[in-house]
Amino acid sequence: MTERMLISGGNGFLGSHIIDKALDNSIGVTVVDDLSTSKERQVPKEVEFIRKPIEEAKELLDRKFDFVLHLAARPSPDDYLRNPLRTIDSNDIGTRMMLDIARLSCATFLYTSTSEVYGDPAVVPIPESYFGNVNPNGVRSCYDESKRFSEALAKAFERAYGTDVRIERPFNVFGPRIREDGFYGRVIPRFIDQALSGQPLTVHGNGRQTRSYLFYTDWVDATWKFLHEPDAKGAVLNIGSNEEITVIDLAKRIIRMTGSASEIVHTPPREEDPKRRAADSAKARELLRWKPEVSLDEGLGKTIDWLREKRERCRP
Ligand code: UDP
Repeated sequence: MTERMLISGGNGFLGSHIIDKALDNSIGVTVVDDLSTSKERQVPKEVEFIRKPIEEAKELLDRKFDFVLHLAARPSPDDYLRNPLRTIDSNDIGTRMMLDIARLSCATFLYTSTSEVYGDPAVVPIPESYFGNVNPNGVRSCYDESKRFSEALAKAFERAYGTDVRIERPFNVFGPRIREDGFYGRVIPRFIDQALSGQPLTVHGNGRQTRSYLFYTDWVDATWKFLHEPDAKGAVLNIGSNEEITVIDLAKRIIRMTGSASEIVHTPPREEDPKRRAADSAKARELLRWKPEVSLDEGLGKTIDWLREKRERCRP
């Protein structure tokens, strides 16, 4: 019998890529997604699609899955600041539901946590041994703290029921299929969109805050290895790059690579925007024999080409 994978949030950017990987490996896929942060259904027709919030998908408790991946989340700061309670729901009630499904199925449970669990870190690149610096009641807490809580919940299932739990913390993954319009406000698609349309690139604050970005193919590779590596049961892993870049340099690089005449404007800083973030992925390198293969420039080039082509195709 073929294996089956349940993916919450499978209609989103990361979900769509892991679906492709699963189908390539002849694994059947069920997606549960309420389309709250995506525009329309985009999963392939051979995928079973359940359109509802995972919190309400009780019927899945009676089904049997080999892998349960909880990706459903609202990871964009611009979005979760507007929807704090719904952001929390997918992390607490949603995670609980997915864990119960995994427990009853004896499945491997993979939780897509976030580098945001580190808040505004004092140690960069950040290893998993650093426990973070998060304001428990600040504007970003609806995301950061509920993600931290989800990790605690997953570990509680592991301790109480022996559920096979694996927790990854992706660092700013980007690439084709990321939502490209202004709704989400993630920096790479937004800057590329602004550069291609000749609009000013909106750098929040002085632009000296840093991030490290990971191209989606490297994320898929790490996630697949994480799901299948027997020694990775129970692990918590950073999945990211240590190639740290300031937001202002990212803006300049995108202007150069697109050949755009756009200018840079400074907009008010985001409240509690972490000042620095880059991954120490030594643990994933060792445990999964994985490392990022795609440089920032290469990934940006591919994402620019994709967005350019999409704009050409969608021109009215
Ligand atoms: N950012 C920016 N201009 C934008 C969108 C984002 O300067 O139009 C900055 C943001 O302040 C942050 C970084 O880019 O420092 C990454 O933001 P994003 O929302 O992509 O992800 P985060 O890492 O903050 O979750």
